[in-house]
Amino acid sequence: MHEPLTDPQILYFSPADETHVRREKARARELRQSQWWRNQIGRGVCHYCGNKFEKAQLTMDHVVPIVRGGRSTKANVVVACKECNSHKKYWTPVELELMSRNSVLETEKN
Ligand SMILES: [Zn+2]
Repeated sequence: MHEPLTDPQILYFSPADETHVRREKARARELRQSQWWRNQIGRGVCHYCGNKFEKAQLTMDHVVPIVRGGRSTKANVVVACKECNSHKKYWTPVELELMSRNSVLETEKN
């Protein structure tokens, strides 16, 4: 039987260290000022739900969250509406996929 609390693979997923978090958050701020990000926001489409939003409703989201070891690179940053961003929190895409299969994230789909 599994013993989640003592499984070393689970313990491995402890939050990223503070230096990493601070550095990547600073990079995220820089990325937000970039022309590239303005173009992303300008499209107005949420990466997760695919709906269109006003710029003010859109946020920068890290696909792999900084606290989980993700970095502020163009490959790891997407446009997300506030709704999707707040649903996502610290989960990775794989975990989100599993959750959506389990209908935990079942929300209005318009
Ligand atoms: Zn969305």
